[in-house]
Amino acid sequence: MLSTMQDVPLLISRILTHGSRVHGESQVTTWTGEAEPHRRSFAEVGDRAAQLAHALRDDLGVRDDDRVATLMWNNAEHTEAYFAIPSMGAVLHTLNLRLPAEQLVWIVNHAADGVVIVNGSLIPMIAPLLGKLPTVRHIVVSGPGDRAPLEGATAAVHEYEDLIAGKPTTYDWPELDERRAAAMCYTSGTTGDPKGVVYSHRSIYLHSMQVNMAQSMGLTDQDTSLVVVPQFHVNAWGLPHATFMTGVNLLMPDRFLQPAPLAEMIEKERPSHAAAVPTIWQGLLGELTARPRDVSSLTQVTIGGSACPPSLMAAFDKLGMRVCHAWGMTETSPLGTVSRPPAHVVGTEQEFAYRLTQGRFPAGVEARLTGPGGERLPWDGESAGELEVRGPWIAGAYYNGPDAEPLRPADKFSEDGWLKTGDVGIISADGFLTLTDRAKDVIKSGGEWISSVELENALMSHPDVAEAAVVAVPDDKWGERPLATVVLREGSAATFETLRTFLAEEGKIAKWQLPERWTVIESVPKTSVGKFDKKVLRRRYADGQLDVTNL
Ligand code: AMP
Repeated sequence: MLSTMQDVPLLISRILTHGSRVHGESQVTTWTGEAEPHRRSFAEVGDRAAQLAHALRDDLGVRDDDRVATLMWNNAEHTEAYFAIPSMGAVLHTLNLRLPAEQLVWIVNHAADGVVIVNGSLIPMIAPLLGKLPTVRHIVVSGPGDRAPLEGATAAVHEYEDLIAGKPTTYDWPELDERRAAAMCYTSGTTGDPKGVVYSHRSIYLHSMQVNMAQSMGLTDQDTSLVVVPQFHVNAWGLPHATFMTGVNLLMPDRFLQPAPLAEMIEKERPSHAAAVPTIWQGLLGELTARPRDVSSLTQVTIGGSACPPSLMAAFDKLGMRVCHAWGMTETSPLGTVSRPPAHVVGTEQEFAYRLTQGRFPAGVEARLTGPGGERLPWDGESAGELEVRGPWIAGAYYNGPDAEPLRPADKFSEDGWLKTGDVGIISADGFLTLTDRAKDVIKSGGEWISSVELENALMSHPDVAEAAVVAVPDDKWGERPLATVVLREGSAATFETLRTFLAEEGKIAKWQLPERWTVIESVPKTSVGKFDKKVLRRRYADGQLDVTNL
């Protein structure tokens, strides 16, 4: 028997129409680095998104399924593109502006982007590449920056504001199939070629509702969210879409992502929520310690992308900025788990330990753990295995061109269609995930596993350590052993011996897991989305570039 309910497709255009009408007064504020930020209401964003869609269709010939890329910072125009492109039936492709040139070229060609909307300040990045991007017919430039490098470009060059000026502020958004492609994002690709994940209208819609749940970010129109996580990093964790559902004000940092302007933004614009990877918050913490500011408005900070060090969580708690830890991937839209402790531990000593886990799965994400032999492991808080997930906003394959079958590599998808995350961890009986490592970062020492993350967290809780990354290096006797690479705070007199003793204290780290190999580095190399880039460290070690002390 079929239901008697209406079958209304879950479309991005519906989120836009709702946000710009029902929450028309909410604001997108973009930091400009000048005395005043730029402010635009959701109603204006809605009008301008319609104008952009007209311009893309009528002036640039964008049709169904055409890929329109953005090479942009977080700002109001990027938000307009977020809504206009999928709503008109085309596909938004957010480009990661931190990628090396050759990867960017590979990705644009693989997606066959026809149009690129670029911020003026990023012209020097795209202009020299255009000769290698045969599919790109149009470049649309928005915001300040020298246009000269685009003179003589093979693609037609347009000004964003000129293009949309005078266009109608309404658009008859098509009634699309909700399963159609809305947006795409390539994984940061630590091994092999980057892989394209294509989100549907339906997956983004459902994911946005989850982001808004009280058990996730739970924001309302009384909140302002400082979206530091880039709009090219998994749809800024769903925030632009989710906020248009609920009227949460957006504070967009544009290109001002350094600790000092972030601190200034928080003090002046008083956001109540913020989201970014741990490295951003480590930087802000250093800034706030050196130059205290009024950050009292900021009461909720979503941290994900890599494990939140306990020391960072504790330091933020002291400043009144309560951390909420979350786990996800490009393939999971990204919201996979959020760490909200269960009611019975709130206010007890156990609460902090729960907050440090990666968190609980929402109803839309099913999870299972798989052991090395393919066996299913219990949720007993002890059995460690690879995490596999499935659900309506989890990828089931990778993009392989418009006419080819999507890719389902066996190391990424199980035979029965679950996503193999490559993350190793345990799940407690009450459904909390604790990741112990990336499968490829785990240190396999004499048949036992050592968690690199655990060592890093312990090291970073030492007051003299600014950052620390631990990688596996080959060892004749044990197969692999940990190498500790440490960034010391200015003026620190800590020695490797004192750090090792510190790790051994109070049984923090088992004796056999303590690193023998140590080195001081200037900073931990980061990936294009700000995570520790351990493959660079492994390579430096293999090339003999690190000055290693053996204890
Ligand atoms: P990406 O697709 O670039 O966002 O990377 C996804 C990967 O980041 C995951 O598979 C995890 O290895 C890692 N990751 C994301 N969030 C967390 C977290 N809260 N704790 C530990 N690792 C995380």
